[in-house]
Amino acid sequence: MSYVDEVFQMVVEKNPAQPEFHQAVKEVLDSLRVVIEANEEEYKRDALLERLVTPERQLLFRVPWVDDKGQVQVNNAYRVQFNSAIGPYKGGIRLHPSVNLGIIKFLGFEQIFKNSLTGLPIGGGKGGSDFDPKGKSDREVMAFCQSFITELHKYIGADTDVPAGDIGTGAREIGYMYGQYKRLTGLYEGVLTGKGLSYGGSLARKEATGYGLLYLTSEMLKCNGMDIAGKTVAISGSGNVAIYACQKAQQLGAKVVTVSDSTGWIYDAEGIDLDLLREVKEVKRARLTEYAAARPSAEYHDKAKEGNNQWIVKVDVALPCATQNELNLEDAKNLVANGVIAVAEGANMPTTADATEYLQEKGVLFAPGKAANAGGVATSALEMSQNSERLSWTFEEVDSKLQTIMVNIFHNLDDAAKKYGMEGNYVAGANIAGFLKVAEAMTAQGIV
Ligand code: NDP
Repeated sequence: MSYVDEVFQMVVEKNPAQPEFHQAVKEVLDSLRVVIEANEEEYKRDALLERLVTPERQLLFRVPWVDDKGQVQVNNAYRVQFNSAIGPYKGGIRLHPSVNLGIIKFLGFEQIFKNSLTGLPIGGGKGGSDFDPKGKSDREVMAFCQSFITELHKYIGADTDVPAGDIGTGAREIGYMYGQYKRLTGLYEGVLTGKGLSYGGSLARKEATGYGLLYLTSEMLKCNGMDIAGKTVAISGSGNVAIYACQKAQQLGAKVVTVSDSTGWIYDAEGIDLDLLREVKEVKRARLTEYAAARPSAEYHDKAKEGNNQWIVKVDVALPCATQNELNLEDAKNLVANGVIAVAEGANMPTTADATEYLQEKGVLFAPGKAANAGGVATSALEMSQNSERLSWTFEEVDSKLQTIMVNIFHNLDDAAKKYGMEGNYVAGANIAGFLKVAEAMTAQGIV
């Protein structure tokens, strides 16, 4: 059995019932085979892969808080500090009922390579809880966030581990967490990113993941002789990533015709009305049925009645921006049948492994999330720099750095794919480019 297969088998045996983590490890290790085989003796002697797939530290804790009826609630919470070879742990906090240790480990593992690809000095980590902020009052969300940070603050810090937002953790939650951290430690430091602008946040952080996704997609199209302008685009999700992906796509001259949430999706033949979408999602925190009700050109599709079939629409570019495994093989077949040119992942691992393979086989340009959505964490690292300098850069400065980073990421993965004989395979390119830097740092730092 090859070294890669041995390590993958060990991961499955030692981490039972964590399918998303197994899926993420398999995808990465499979595409690294050629690099690993070239260095097998050294990596094996140093147990490099075993160390890479085993988090440096995993924190599991309870979060007790009191709801508005006076009832005590208890949630499970996690922080996985996966790899600090190239910098302090960095990765978001997901608040969603589906959160469990396996999901946080898959996200933390992916984050190692994503952070490495940005070219910035940040290691990989991820955290979260099965707490659902949806339907909770502001006071309940604050009670949860304060209790969560009361435990987590012992293990994080501006130079050790810097959490950020993710699904369910937006500006409101980061604000409550930051306030409690400051109260407990007395430190006004950049321990969390995604902060409000009045207390150390970075301009363009909110927009960064969605904008970055479009900067990378546009560069990928350009390098393949095409232009994003004039293309029809399908987006899933209607959260932070989806909204700003939609905005940048429209600014670059594309037409976005779909968005979704967990209960339904919209097809708007005239193109998504971004102001209306932001009003419904960012201001009212309402469902997409409200968008459909206010917009005659919009068709609403209820997922409970029709299933999640949003990828049946004929588009040139598909940008899944909601959650993991939301675009499966059947969806990929529909997209290909309708002539899709490119798929770029705004969310983390939104495309199932078989769907990714199918799209690549059919010659669809495919940009994996760890590259395509790295704009968020890259801008978080820029927020850390501004906090350390006690300075705030302008929107244009941050946006232009973001654009440069995304274009560089694309060329790094394109070059890595070419160098290892897999031209056009951006999944392999991203994994190889991300891995090589981390492997070199781990080797240089000895057995730790
Ligand atoms: P938000 O919470 O702002 O939005 C998530 C969107 O996805 C919502 O429209 C939500 O619908 C939908 N969604 C969430 N869970 C599910 C589900 N199980 N099934 C179907 N739809 C679902 O999150 P973000 O936009 O921040 O994150 C989206 C994705 O992008 C995630 O995979 C995240 O890890 C990734 N990402 C985010 C970054 C960031 O900077 N925010 C950076 C890099 C990656 P509803 O409101 O109905 O729940």
